[in-house]
Amino acid sequence: MSGLPKIDTEGLKSFIPDDEIFQWLEKTKHPDAERVREIIRKSLDKNRLDPEEMATLINADSPELVEEIFEGARELKRRIYGNRIVLFAPLYVGNECVNRCAYCGFRADNTEVHRKTLLSEELVAEVEALEDLGHKRLIMVYGEHPKYDAQYIHDTVKEVYAVKKGPGEIRRVNINAAPLDVDGFKTVKSAGIGTYQIFQETYHRETYKQVHKGGPKSDFLWRLHGLDRAMEAGIDDLGIGALLGLYDWRFETMALLYHTIHLEKKFNVGPHTISFPRLEPAIGTDIEALTKKHAVSDFDFKRLVAILRLAVPYTGLILTCRESTELRNEMLGFGVSQIDGGSSIGVGSYSQKDPEAFKKSQFLLGDNRSLDEIIRELCEAGFVPSFCTGCYRKGRTGEHFMEFAIPGFVKRFCTPNAVLTFLEYLNDYASGETLAAGLKQIDRELEAMPESKAKDELLNRMQQVREGARDLY
Ligand code: SAM
Ligand code: SF4
Repeated sequence: MSGLPKIDTEGLKSFIPDDEIFQWLEKTKHPDAERVREIIRKSLDKNRLDPEEMATLINADSPELVEEIFEGARELKRRIYGNRIVLFAPLYVGNECVNRCAYCGFRADNTEVHRKTLLSEELVAEVEALEDLGHKRLIMVYGEHPKYDAQYIHDTVKEVYAVKKGPGEIRRVNINAAPLDVDGFKTVKSAGIGTYQIFQETYHRETYKQVHKGGPKSDFLWRLHGLDRAMEAGIDDLGIGALLGLYDWRFETMALLYHTIHLEKKFNVGPHTISFPRLEPAIGTDIEALTKKHAVSDFDFKRLVAILRLAVPYTGLILTCRESTELRNEMLGFGVSQIDGGSSIGVGSYSQKDPEAFKKSQFLLGDNRSLDEIIRELCEAGFVPSFCTGCYRKGRTGEHFMEFAIPGFVKRFCTPNAVLTFLEYLNDYASGETLAAGLKQIDRELEAMPESKAKDELLNRMQQVREGARDLY
């Protein structure tokens, strides 16, 4: 066991300019409606926005302008991304942790949580249970602990890819784990991961210090530069995020943009995805005290998602299904591209029916709908659930960027692949009711496609799926 990487932050500086962010937020107060419209148009013309422009949208808080921002986000989603929503599930591998993040149930000094790391056979049982639900795409989640070093992450990813139950298989594994050193990231990359996700939690240094009370994660700069090291190791599919509720959402949203610009400037590639989880209650944790000042209302949450959609039009936006159906469907319309479904966030809780599972959970889930129910609701709301992992397996990293940047990409690849993987799901896993709703949605999608060679090809492949072929892309 080689343990945790040695932290070395010599020469590192923060690329989040706090003062500049506050200045932009101050300078752009009470914006002119025409200026707001000009910024929305810039985004619809497929340009990433600058900090001054994002700050202007943040300050455009009259009901009329907020509605124009929402409509801008909807229009961008319609023009670029279509109706597809990619589904994934989190898989918690172990909740042992040496850090003391005040908001997290897994923190080292939380005596109420039951510690658990999946044994190899338990990991296999979890993956089988996820495959039985129909999942093809996972995000594996780890506490920060010497046990979960780069080699361990690599080995567990490999184990997951090897599990095949019935027609099930996991085709893409993403990672949410502590930042590694460059060699560690190289090791993890060699297991064939998709995205490596690290959330900064809060970009506000003072708040960061207050809530990270001990352990390697309390080093702001080591974490902030984590994705730079991942890039240096050759992982260019990166996920950034902020945990909302710790500090002012306006600042955090601006900081996510600065992080994006930093990656663009330094590596010529922005983040693949942006996440914006809101703080959830956690066992043994006083979340209310933590969010007293900065809890994010549903309305502001919608605003920040729409603003992020406009500001960084090329990234995937990830929403967890803990949000209410109504809010979620609205935000899907703004361009959220991925959601989790049927999630269970206790270690071992997909395969074990443990009434005390919540004691091994990082936080408490408000939404316990099954994947089947979520899929049915998505269809009823006019979305096409997708389990596509085609780009990743064709060696095309940064699929959201390609969807955005290459004219016709979504029509050529994403929509047909969404339909094919969804049809697989419907044939193999759906309940009768979901099957009916799903087939109706596929019909609607086909009707909207003009007659073409591509459509004939899709119809032909759909027939192959009905006859038992799988994984066509
Ligand atoms: N240990 C690694 C780390 O901290 O980066 C990865 C796993 S950690 C469990 C994954 C993410 O969970 C954290 O980055 C944080 O944003 C989120 N999280 C922690 N506590 C939470 C809570 N109470 N509600 C919602 N999300 C939370
Ligand atoms: Fe550990 Fe991550 Fe939870 Fe912090 S957020 S206590 S590092 S699992």
